[in-house]
Amino acid sequence: MTTRKLQLNNKSNDYSSSLINKKGEYMIDKQLIDNAVNEAMMKVIYNSSPTMIHEDDYEPQACSLCNKEMSSIHDTHNAFPLAKLQSAKEAHQQKKNYRCCSDCNEKVLKARLDMMGVSSEDLKTYSISELSKIPSKKERKSIFETSQSKARFDELGQDFYKTGLGKSILKGRK
Ligand SMILES: [Zn+2]
Repeated sequence: MTTRKLQLNNKSNDYSSSLINKKGEYMIDKQLIDNAVNEAMMKVIYNSSPTMIHEDDYEPQACSLCNKEMSSIHDTHNAFPLAKLQSAKEAHQQKKNYRCCSDCNEKVLKARLDMMGVSSEDLKTYSISELSKIPSKKERKSIFETSQSKARFDELGQDFYKTGLGKSILKGRK
């Protein structure tokens, strides 16, 4: 017997989240606006983050997993646990790239969940404003500090607390 899961069709919600001007001349999909705003915000965050370099300083690198050229800094991601954890800044400084492209990042995110034994259905999506309201941020552990991550860092010969991200997490707790 096959069981089929009833899935909520996100598409059906598109209409209700669209903005229509008073004359009904055009519709603006709210998702498009959200995406554009998020993208602009991410660029601001990236360009001012201690682990990132400014997009103008980026020199195109090959993805460490599939070798495809990553033309923009925004197309590069931390590939841990499929490769060493590395920030854009570290990739720039170390002249050796362990980061991966956006396509491979999906495999990376899946590998992180698998490593943690978490199903993607168990995840909850938070908006940035919701995240900022969650208390005791200092006590929240990074996914890179779990025993599973520790084992993987050992395999890769890397100490998380010696990476830029690890150092900034320790600094934030002081
Ligand atoms: Zn790739």
